[in-house]
Amino acid sequence: MDYNKDELGQNTDQTNSEAPLGSAPIPQARRRTVQQIRRDRMQAIAVMIVFGLIVAASVIYFVTSGNNNDDGGSTVKTDSDRTSSGVSSEISSAAPEKDSSIKDSRSEEESRSEIKEAEGHEVEVIDGRTYIDGILIVNKTYSIPRTYAPGMDSAAEEAFYNMAGDAYADGIVLYICSGYRSYDEQEQLYNSYAAERGVEEADEVSSRPGHSEHQSGLCMDVNTTEFSFEGTPEAIWLEEHCADYGFIIRFPKGKESITGYAYEPWHIRYVGEAAAKEITAQDICLEEYLDVTSDYANAQDAQS
Ligand SMILES: [Zn+2]
Repeated sequence: MDYNKDELGQNTDQTNSEAPLGSAPIPQARRRTVQQIRRDRMQAIAVMIVFGLIVAASVIYFVTSGNNNDDGGSTVKTDSDRTSSGVSSEISSAAPEKDSSIKDSRSEEESRSEIKEAEGHEVEVIDGRTYIDGILIVNKTYSIPRTYAPGMDSAAEEAFYNMAGDAYADGIVLYICSGYRSYDEQEQLYNSYAAERGVEEADEVSSRPGHSEHQSGLCMDVNTTEFSFEGTPEAIWLEEHCADYGFIIRFPKGKESITGYAYEPWHIRYVGEAAAKEITAQDICLEEYLDVTSDYANAQDAQS
């Protein structure tokens, strides 16, 4: 666009220098036509150059913004988006042809890993916790910060006791064996597993600190954490009914490679009734429901 200004400047200079030559009528007329032709040519060239620049800039803009869309329809909102980048996105949309192409490609790289996760879902990051479609996700990819210590979630707790009451009426006794766990408690638990059995085995049955759902206060181990729980009347009742109360069997059999954990018939996670029923009806795990991975290799905090 600076080009445009220069051309305009030249044109004005030419018109000004033309004025004092007005004394001789015939040469003036000739000069005028010659200058007119020159000026017309210059203007035509200038217009073509400007047009060319606009086309090039538009192509760059559409290519970069097109890539953004290809990478996922998910809306990624972060804390920083709410404050600073709300402003920066306004600026880039006001002048899309020019300097935004550099900015766009940078922010695209930053959000690419997030966008691949949870494609087509609404992702919201609040104080280091990731909510996808309103569901707090905690697994090997997604952690919660050490400082997040909510205690047991009251809605989850209430839902559990409603369920336990109805189970009791069916002759089934359900109780919370392990519910909320702090970051530090999880750290001790994981470290003792890792020391005893090695990291690889510890990762199958336990979570690294910050990656345990127990820290969210939204899950509980029912009755036991022994694999012998599988197939008991309590485990069967739990699996058949927990969705009616908003719970899912978080680490189902056959989904180990997706959840990243061994089958745990006792570990239930509160996601609310609608989501729980949908997940159960579709016979999928939470990672499939939200289109996310559960892999320490993808984790942002890259633990040791
Ligand atoms: Zn558990």
